[in-house]
Amino acid sequence: MLLRQTKEQLRRLDLRAKKGLGQHFLIDDRALRRLVSAAELSPFDTVVEVGPGLGILTRELARKAGWVIAIEIDPKLASALEEGLAPLANVTILSADVLESDPGSLIEAAKGGLEASYKVVANLPYYIASAVLRHFLEASLKPKMMVVTIQKEVAEAMVAQPGEMSLLSVSVQFYARPAIVDYVPARSFYPPPKVDSAIVRIELYDHPAVEVEDVAIFFEVVRGGFSAPRKQLRNSLAQGLNITPGDAAALLDRAGISQKRRAETLSLEEWARVYRVFTEKQC
Ligand code: SAM
Repeated sequence: MLLRQTKEQLRRLDLRAKKGLGQHFLIDDRALRRLVSAAELSPFDTVVEVGPGLGILTRELARKAGWVIAIEIDPKLASALEEGLAPLANVTILSADVLESDPGSLIEAAKGGLEASYKVVANLPYYIASAVLRHFLEASLKPKMMVVTIQKEVAEAMVAQPGEMSLLSVSVQFYARPAIVDYVPARSFYPPPKVDSAIVRIELYDHPAVEVEDVAIFFEVVRGGFSAPRKQLRNSLAQGLNITPGDAAALLDRAGISQKRRAETLSLEEWARVYRVFTEKQC
């Protein structure tokens, strides 16, 4: 049903899916319902949708939420949506690159400064999925929740625990609690991508999971640790932070962490300890 509708829409608009823009349209009713229900929308919610495409998800969001702001980079799709969704009074279509759009200004402009909280719900374009997540997690006005479909492997990396952590899992878990809601096979999209997907629900904390004064330096340390993930921390930190292996060893000793551990084994609290010793040393 959704497949036929999608093909017809593309034909009518004389468009082909642009793989370079991650255009894989959702054609699976069940996945659509799971995605929307995981966001627990009410008429009080403002939703930002990244990449509305042909508007299949946008219509569902508009039925449940108070306001939907949908940002589409493809100008042809954006103008087709403007026309197609014109009868829906609670949808704003923006023809723009999400990474160039400041969430705070968007919400303020759309709501006249009345309501500052929002949720992100999207079938993200894979090629920039991590960048889009970072964009919202690090925004000055952060969403309270994000429910997104992303590549299965990226979703699993995001919810990993110490032993299998990565820069992505540390970055997401610093700001939020991520959980996999469901898996979505590649055939749920048209055209099908090469990989399967997962729906992830990311609930943002009011405050980061660990207390650090300077978030930029915290991530400088974490990035340093992951600069050579297969090496022991003493060496990866030395390389990543541009310090001597001796200094890196002393740093780890003072933080109470074995020099032989690898970056993927550290918890957020342990990264915070390394950061604290590193910043003390710099004072
Ligand atoms: N929401 C639709 C659906 O569920 O069928 C389409 C999802 S498709 C996976 C991703 C959409 O994101 C495409 O419409 C694509 O044009 C759009 N897109 C790609 N890069 C973008 C960007 N930087 N900013 C905004 N939209 C983007």
